[in-house]
Amino acid sequence: MKREEVLETLVWLSQELGVEDRNLVILGEGNTSADNGDGTFWVKASGYELSSIDKEGFSLIDIGTTLAYLEGPPLDDQAVSEALRASQVEPSHPKPSVETFLHALCIKECGAKFIAHSHAVSVNQILCSTLGAEPFLGNICPDQIVVCGSAPAVVPYIDPGFHLAVAVRDELRRYMDVHGNPPKVLFMVNHGVVSLGKTAKEALNIQLMTDKWAKILVGALPIGGIQYMDEADVLRISSRLDEKYRQALLEKQEH
Ligand SMILES: [Zn+2]
Repeated sequence: MKREEVLETLVWLSQELGVEDRNLVILGEGNTSADNGDGTFWVKASGYELSSIDKEGFSLIDIGTTLAYLEGPPLDDQAVSEALRASQVEPSHPKPSVETFLHALCIKECGAKFIAHSHAVSVNQILCSTLGAEPFLGNICPDQIVVCGSAPAVVPYIDPGFHLAVAVRDELRRYMDVHGNPPKVLFMVNHGVVSLGKTAKEALNIQLMTDKWAKILVGALPIGGIQYMDEADVLRISSRLDEKYRQALLEKQEH
């Protein structure tokens, strides 16, 4: 896809995430991004509302420049602002989101193409409770596993922006080492959830299923607690997915 097409798809994803009665984000909450596959990506600009955002609400960013800052010493607020400006391919675009570093990491470390971050009410009911991300660490039903994967990535509460991105980088690398594949979901305690998609539709689907997952947990907790699936059943669903994936790859190669 060309940059312009990627941006159009990203606008679609952003507006879908902002649909009011989904309760995923309000006001200027949340952000989205999309990889152009040429060393640049689009990211939501600061202050724009996802529900009404248009192409003008995004900024084009150089991935390499952004990520180089994460390898250096910690940046203060002023330095973060300057780093974000310096990462812009087009200086005329609006100021990128402070979570631009996090989005660049999801693309570079995990190969994600479309990324969505929300503060869903349902998810934050759990992440802002004394249980934190713990209720999400087991699997509860096949569709949750199919859409969201059998193991989420998790970071504790960290100051949003540069410091959060450093923690996310470490967690994504740990996750890839342990699981050998990227996560579909990243939970950030006392903050919200990030979905990593190969397509815009997948990034949205993961957000919607995570919302449903959280609602089920919130319902099950007071009714005697959560009945998690056992490992063999989880593996059975996951291995079916592997089969599907291999099949899809084979089909692709034939064309
Ligand atoms: Zn956030």
